Amino acid sequence: NPVIGVLALQGDVREHLIALAAADAVARPVRRPDELAEVDALVIPGGESTTMSKLAVLFGMLEPLRERVKAGMPVYGTCAGMIMLADKLLDGREDQETLGGIDMIVRRNAFGRQNESFEAKIDFAGIEGGPVEGVFIRAPWVESVGAPVEVLATYDGHTVAVRQGNVLATSFHPELTGDDRVHAYFVDMVRAGL
Ligand code: GLN
Repeated sequence: NPVIGVLALQGDVREHLIALAAADAVARPVRRPDELAEVDALVIPGGESTTMSKLAVLFGMLEPLRERVKAGMPVYGTCAGMIMLADKLLDGREDQETLGGIDMIVRRNAFGRQNESFEAKIDFAGIEGGPVEGVFIRAPWVESVGAPVEVLATYDGHTVAVRQGNVLATSFHPELTGDDRVHAYFVDMVRAGL
């Protein structure tokens, strides 16, 4: 089974470790460059992207992460993790760094003003068995995407799940629902590339 790390600088790491294990991956937390070097793929959890960005710099993880993403490591980011995978941000903090990886512009806290936190059924392209439960918590949306990006799900006219090659991102948090189909989709992506 593929070894999939969860970036454990900040955020809901434990929930992702559990969901990945349920989807038949070997899951482990990743905090340091030597731990990153040992995994086949990585999940970037939900949390607070400004804090995650700061800690990535402090822990010397920013460049190693960027290099692995560039080299084609499969990555899945949820919410703050989606923000980390954006090539460009709207409403980011001035000094906020992202890893990039998906040719998209992401708006931070986009659903925030109308609705701090909500759940919705989301039709997800490539996932069978009905819509997935989308938990949105001060969630971003994808404002626009470039040609290489596949839109996998929308909510209320806004793009909330995307994939570019080996890199997957959702505005919402499948790790909080007990429905592991999105994690299984990611594990399949990882297996296909091994
Ligand atoms: N609003 C948070 C951010 O900007 C993301 C929230 C989340 O991950 N649930 O990072």
